[in-house]
Amino acid sequence: MDTTRTVAVIGAGPAGLMAAEVLAQGGAQVTVFDAMPSAGRKFLMAGKGGMNITHSEAFDAFVTRYGARQPEIEPLLRAFPPEDLRAWIHGLGVQTFVGSSGRVFPTEMKAAPLLRGWLHRLRESGVRFAMRHRWLGWTDDGSLLFAEPEGEHTVRADAVVLALGGGSWAKLGSDGAWTPLLAGRGVEVSPLRPSNCGFEVAWSEHFRSRFAGEPLKSVAASFGGARRLGECLIDAHGIEGGLIYALSTALRDEIEHTGRATLHLDLLPDWSAEKVAAAVAHPRGSRSLSSHLQSRLGLKGVKAGLLRECLTAEEFNTPARLAAAIKALPLPLLAPRPLDEAISSAGGVRFEALDANLMVKELPGVFCAGEMLDWEAPTGGYLLTACFASGKAAGSGALDWLRPSRAV
Ligand SMILES: Cc1cc2nc3c(=O)[nH]c(=O)nc-3n(C[C@H](O)[C@H](O)[C@H](O)COP(=O)(O)OP(=O)(O)OC[C@H]3O[C@@H](n4cnc5c(N)ncnc54)[C@H](O)[C@@H]3O)c2cc1C
Repeated sequence: MDTTRTVAVIGAGPAGLMAAEVLAQGGAQVTVFDAMPSAGRKFLMAGKGGMNITHSEAFDAFVTRYGARQPEIEPLLRAFPPEDLRAWIHGLGVQTFVGSSGRVFPTEMKAAPLLRGWLHRLRESGVRFAMRHRWLGWTDDGSLLFAEPEGEHTVRADAVVLALGGGSWAKLGSDGAWTPLLAGRGVEVSPLRPSNCGFEVAWSEHFRSRFAGEPLKSVAASFGGARRLGECLIDAHGIEGGLIYALSTALRDEIEHTGRATLHLDLLPDWSAEKVAAAVAHPRGSRSLSSHLQSRLGLKGVKAGLLRECLTAEEFNTPARLAAAIKALPLPLLAPRPLDEAISSAGGVRFEALDANLMVKELPGVFCAGEMLDWEAPTGGYLLTACFASGKAAGSGALDWLRPSRAV
C-alpha cells in the first residue's frame, strides 16, 4: 500500500487499538486519538476485578451469546475467533488460563501487563497517539474536528475508524456523546441503554439501612423461563451483581414494555420445595419463627431480612406461603440502574447502517467498531471478544478501502 495513506482511529480502547494494529501492519499511517490522557482506561478497569477476556466454550454456543445480533457478530468472530484472540494475547507475552466456569483470563488476571506490551508494540510499528483529543465531529469540508488543551484543530485523514465505546462509566472516557454526531449525519443509531446492569427496588428504609452492601450468596434467580445460580449484592438502590447482570437484558426489556418486572429468588436452591415445606412446617414449640428459620433452614441475615421485606405478615406466618416464597420470592424491579453504572451498553450504530466491512454506508471511508455498535452480550468475556473482533474487521475494512484501486 501507498504508505502516505493516513488513518485516524478515534478511541483508544480495545476495539480502536486492534483496528490501529491491523492498519499499521497493512502499511497505513495511523494516529490514534482519544479524549482521555491515556489509552484503554475502561480496559484497565475491566482488569481490576479479574480480566475475563474471552470464553472457552464451543464456537456454536459462543456465538449464541450475542442474541438477536448473532447474525452480524458471527462473521466477525469467524474471522477472529476466541482461540485466535488467545493466541494473539500469548503473542504479547501474556499467558492465559481457563477458569472453572470456562471463562478465560490472563494469568495475572490483570489488563495492565497486556495493555503495556500492546501499546509498546503499536508504537514500535509506527502508530502515533494523540491523547487529550476530544473528537467533536466534522467540519463543513469533511475534516475531523478535535478539541485539545490548546484549542480546536482539524485533521484530514484518508479513512477513519470510530471506536468510541458505549455510554457507561463515562469517567473512563466513553460517554456516548458521539451519538448525536453520527445521528446528525444521517447514521441510524439506537439509543444507548444499560446492559449487564443492576435494578432499582423500593426497599423499605428499615431493610435498606440494615442490608445495603450485603452480598446475597448461593441463591438462584429466575425470570422469563431462565434460571441462574450465583450471587448478587443488595445495595441502597436495589440489587446488582453477576447473577442479576445475567438476566438483565430480559428484565430491562420487560420493564421497557410493561413498566416493571418481577424477579424470583430461590433462597435455598439446593433444597427441594418439599424439603423446604417440611422444614418450615416442622413443629417449633416456643421458638420464634425467625429462630426456627435459622436453626432448621439456615435462613438468617439478609436472606431472612428479604423474606420479611417482601412478604406481608400474613404470608410470613402462613407456613405453605412462607415455604413457597423461600423457593420463589417475588422481587419487583422498578427500573434498570442508570447507564453510567452499567458494565456495558446496548444500542449504538445499527448494523443496517454499515456494510459488511463495518463502513458507514452514509459516510464512505468511515468505519465503526466495538461497543459503539448496536449489540450486547453477557459478561463472560463476550464483550471484549466482540470488541477485538470488530476492531480487527474495521481495520481490515479500512485497509481494503484504501487499496489504490479503491482510493480516490
Ligand atoms: C467495570 C467493568 C468491568 C468490565 N469487565 C469486563 C470483562 O471482564 N470482560 C469483558 O469482556 N468486558 C468487560 N467489560 C466491558 C469492556 O471493558 C468494554 O466492552 C470494552 O472496553 C469496550 O471497548 P471499546 O474499545 O469498544 O470501547 P472503550 O474501551 O470504552 O474505549 C472507547 C474509547 O473512546 C474514547 N472516546 C469516546 N468518545 C470520544 C471522543 N468524542 N473523542 C475522543 N475519544 C473518545 C474513550 O476515551 C475511550 O478511551 C467491563 C466493563 C466495565 C465498566
